Amino acid sequence: MLNCRTVNQVGNCYEEVCSAIDQKTLYIHQAQKKASMRLVGAYHGCPGSATEKYYVSEFPKRDSVVRCMICTVAFGMGIDIPDISHIFHFGISASVLSYWQEVGRAGREGQAASAYFFATAASKYHKPIPDKGMLSLVEKLSGDAECARVEVLQQLTVDGMDRSTMDSLKQRVPCAEDCTELCDCPLCNCCNLCERRCPCTQ
Ligand SMILES: [Zn+2]
Ligand SMILES: [Zn+2]
Ligand SMILES: [Zn+2]
Repeated sequence: MLNCRTVNQVGNCYEEVCSAIDQKTLYIHQAQKKASMRLVGAYHGCPGSATEKYYVSEFPKRDSVVRCMICTVAFGMGIDIPDISHIFHFGISASVLSYWQEVGRAGREGQAASAYFFATAASKYHKPIPDKGMLSLVEKLSGDAECARVEVLQQLTVDGMDRSTMDSLKQRVPCAEDCTELCDCPLCNCCNLCERRCPCTQ
């Protein structure tokens, strides 16, 4: 799922993604080259429209024609989609809480899932305007932050909350430096900031 902040961005991303995929791959049936047979879907907020109804019923299916959904965050709110494995954010979310809820749509069945976040400069001004917490998170992540997960959780922690998860995240031990294959340590399995701190990647 690729989340955009504006309707225009949805259109632009859709064009980009579709043009990057060759025509043979893009359509599920070569004989029927119509939009509903494309593996890539786009929804930019026309509630009640036939397009919305199609994607809302199609995308959550396990054998959905649509493998990649490009949309504003309003798409499918409240619908549980079991098998999303990647969430992309093209632009800054309105708040850290919204961001956490949005990435929480992936890996619903406990499967491995990843989130990719592109903080485009223009998205600072897209409505709803991102709140202070979100802007300071973005600043931290592009500055001296050590772990994206810790930074997000820190923003969501309020006084009196159980801090054990946070403490255990801070005490993770990386690998012993001699991984011959792909590193599978707690740092490499966290985020790209953690991965960069692993001895293996030095
Ligand atoms: Zn991390
Ligand atoms: Zn390692
Ligand atoms: Zn590692």
